Amino acid sequence: MRPIFRGPVPTDAAGQPKKVRDYKDWRADLIDRIGNYCCYCNMVLNDSPQVEHVTPKNPQPGQVAGSLLDWDNMLLACGPCNQAKGNKPCSTGTHFLPDSHNTHMAFEHIVVDSIQRPGMKACLVKPRPDLTNTQTAKAQNTIGLCQLDRIVVNKRATDYRWKYRHEALLYAQEFRTSWETINQSNADQDYSSQLLPLIRIAALAKGFFSIWFEAFHDVPVVLQSLIAAFPNTEPSCFDAANGYAPVPRNPADL
Ligand SMILES: [Zn+2]
Repeated sequence: MRPIFRGPVPTDAAGQPKKVRDYKDWRADLIDRIGNYCCYCNMVLNDSPQVEHVTPKNPQPGQVAGSLLDWDNMLLACGPCNQAKGNKPCSTGTHFLPDSHNTHMAFEHIVVDSIQRPGMKACLVKPRPDLTNTQTAKAQNTIGLCQLDRIVVNKRATDYRWKYRHEALLYAQEFRTSWETINQSNADQDYSSQLLPLIRIAALAKGFFSIWFEAFHDVPVVLQSLIAAFPNTEPSCFDAANGYAPVPRNPADL
């Protein structure tokens, strides 16, 4: 899950912090700032970006409501993530959230058979095995919050995150294989500068930042390009002096 930052409240034509009457009025600003990707599953949103309240605007009984209009409570989400998240409580103390933590460090991707369709694979999100027990519980809470480990297959299903995630994984792996093949078979010439834009374009078009980051985890020049290409990826989450290795955003907890 890509760690992101929103930046300060967008300003109006007079240079003053913008005020909105409807939370959906933040949509264009959010797309400008963080790109047209779901902040939770990292899928490309295409024509259906939904403005999502991190702390729910209509919480469950006993929970505190999040601000209805504040910029700092808004993210973009896809339909399945937004619907799954609904009014479930979530906080930085109980969940890993992309605008607060280095969420790239919390999760890994696994490929499983989609039992509903023989031969079809699905890619799902799981907590990384090297997390502490407390961190694993928080990661699992986030997965449950947005149902990032769900496979739904029926005639009317609209949740294809598992399928598109797997497609992105195959694309990223194929680009990585090509990177090795081309660079090894042309040892006397560096093709990195020609390949980099292609990788960047494919990653931006297909989405799922962390899948691409993992596929090129030991190729700093590609990692640098991915961090720069996906808008407002939190730069402090990656150590430029150490090959862009992920580093905690909150020293206490990811
Ligand atoms: Zn999503």
